[in-house]
Amino acid sequence: MMKRQTVILGGGASGLAAAVVAAKRGDNVTILEKNDRVGKKLLATGNGRCNLANLNAPVYYGNPSFAREVLQNKPVSEVLRFFESIGLPTHADSAGRVYPTCNQAAAVLDVFRTQLDLLSVNTLLNVRVTGLRQQSEKWLVLTNRGDFSADRILVCCGGLAAPKLGAENAYSLLTGLGCRLITPAPALSPLETEKEPVRGLSGLRLPAVLTLCGNSEPIARTQGEVLFADYGISGVCAMQLARDAYILLKQKKAVQLFIDFSPTIGIIDQRMERLAPGSPYENEKAMYNWLDHRRSQFPIQSLLIGALPRLLRERLKETSFDKLPRMLCAYPLTLTGVRSFDQAQITQGGIDPSDFDPIDMQHRHLHGLHACGEILDVDGDCGGYNLQFAFASGILAAEAN
Ligand SMILES: Cc1cc2nc3c(=O)[nH]c(=O)nc-3n(C[C@H](O)[C@H](O)[C@H](O)COP(=O)(O)OP(=O)(O)OC[C@H]3O[C@@H](n4cnc5c(N)ncnc54)[C@H](O)[C@@H]3O)c2cc1C
Repeated sequence: MMKRQTVILGGGASGLAAAVVAAKRGDNVTILEKNDRVGKKLLATGNGRCNLANLNAPVYYGNPSFAREVLQNKPVSEVLRFFESIGLPTHADSAGRVYPTCNQAAAVLDVFRTQLDLLSVNTLLNVRVTGLRQQSEKWLVLTNRGDFSADRILVCCGGLAAPKLGAENAYSLLTGLGCRLITPAPALSPLETEKEPVRGLSGLRLPAVLTLCGNSEPIARTQGEVLFADYGISGVCAMQLARDAYILLKQKKAVQLFIDFSPTIGIIDQRMERLAPGSPYENEKAMYNWLDHRRSQFPIQSLLIGALPRLLRERLKETSFDKLPRMLCAYPLTLTGVRSFDQAQITQGGIDPSDFDPIDMQHRHLHGLHACGEILDVDGDCGGYNLQFAFASGILAAEAN
């Protein structure tokens, strides 16, 4: 019997997982990758450690119900079993974030490349896909290196985040076939603020709680590490707010961000999590009590020594005692923008997944057309959710009969 010809567009996270599974199931698999190597972005993930999944309940945006269905059809336990089966042991940290046990993103790429060789997957590099045509029972894939015929195609071309790592606009491949595009925008990206409140703080890294408000209404809140930059703030805690911030700015709302330094001072525990939105002044009373107690022990000019880094103390040295509790639990920044795709980790928006079946990622009307990973309008929080969706959707598509 002739083997089924499966052509995979894009050799990133979803494409690599799909290629291995399809080849193991007996398909004749070809990967078409426009870069000079596969998995370029994978190497940069999780700060070089590759946070490849998360054991907690799925946290997704865009089309969250579609994402949930995909992850019900291919749960995290099965994704991790897949990695185990190709030689990659994994472990989870106390927050449920899953990494390779050796904590090396390179190890993830190594096991994929080894499998591609063992399974004789035809990996063609420097091949940019430019168009797709359906021809009776087959698909024709148009590229800069000629045309390829396939029984089925898996579009695994990713989103627009991190162009330096190979991201490119491939949406037209699917919109050309009638798929709908939800306008893409950067998500998990640093935030730009008015310069004055962050002046002199660049390089400072500390644990904090951030509350994002639109027209004074609390919209979202995260706790984690904040990193100050000359343009504003970065770090996981800030980047998690980029999706909401972008939408608020687009709606022309007044967008404010309040930094609560309570975790730095020790008034609340240091953690990394998304919290329910609430008043930015929640810890003002506790902050006042802490300061008041300290005032009885130390001279007023030494009040913050030992509790806050010097750069921040310098910034607050002109603040009067009565204003200090509020400044320390709700340090105000006015948001002016979200950094571009150059610095974003993922894309919000993309191809509307409702045209695709979450059982096998196949188009509901175009037989043999599958789409996986970030090219779809599904984006997750930091913590492994985005790679997990890419791997799960790639595996489901590959398993389709
Ligand atoms: C710095 C950084 C760190 C990250 N860390 C994490 C993390 O720790 N955990 C996590 O869950 N997520 C992380 N992400 C997000 C995660 O990497 C992506 O969501 C995931 O890689 C998406 O997988 P994908 O297969 O859809 O796309 P990609 O992995 O982007 O792969 C798409 C591939 O398609 C190729 N391609 C595109 N267009 C064409 C074309 N026309 N023809 C041929 N080939 C094409 C690209 O070159 C690329 O190789 C991170 C992202 C960045 C930028």
